[in-house]
Amino acid sequence: MKIGIMGGTFDPIHIGHLLAAERAGEAGELDEVWIMPANVPPHKPHAPRADSRHRLEMTRLAAMSNPRLSVTDFELVKGGTSYTVDTMKELALRNPQAEFSYIMGADMIMYLPKWHRIDELARIVRFIGVARPGFALRVDELDPSLQERITIVPMPQLDISSTEIRARRQAGLSVRYLVSDSVLDYMEVNRLYET
Ligand code: ATP
Ligand code: MG
Repeated sequence: MKIGIMGGTFDPIHIGHLLAAERAGEAGELDEVWIMPANVPPHKPHAPRADSRHRLEMTRLAAMSNPRLSVTDFELVKGGTSYTVDTMKELALRNPQAEFSYIMGADMIMYLPKWHRIDELARIVRFIGVARPGFALRVDELDPSLQERITIVPMPQLDISSTEIRARRQAGLSVRYLVSDSVLDYMEVNRLYET
């Protein structure tokens, strides 16, 4: 069984995340893709703006209509700062029959050499990368041992970020079509990112 893990803050989840997950799942012939919201991301300058329960609920709403997609609250339940290497070791132990890939955008791929215990992580997962507007994707600049663990999957380029969505919400502007309708409704009802 092949499982893709897509970690992130998902503050909130948007169609860039969903398309990346879908295309990685298709190209990697993954049986399942699990969206995994981070509790406190190790690399972000600030804490997530929305509560983890809201971020989790929005990922669930967005994933619901896609049979290949599901959500794992593993890192939220664990609490604190989770390093991907520790998370993946634990997930591998719990799912000994699974072969895991870790899915990410270009910004994260180029940052991989700085990840905590990257050599160890690269031994237990393969990486699936997608390009992202505004971020150079130059895999050939990475260490060859890392390069051989990375597969780049094409997808239509969406210049969308959660940062932009939060900023638009704060300014009272529309984010329709940047997120699923269910996520839009959820943000409206819970007045997320308004101030
Ligand atoms: P923020 O602006 O808050 O950092 P974000 O849009 O970058 O939010 P994250 O939760 O940080 O979203 O990212 C989760 C994963 O999704 C990362 O691997 C990131 O590279 C990838 N990703 C996010 N947006 C896109 C996009 N538009 N196209 C491709 N990949 C994306
Ligand atoms: Mg980001």
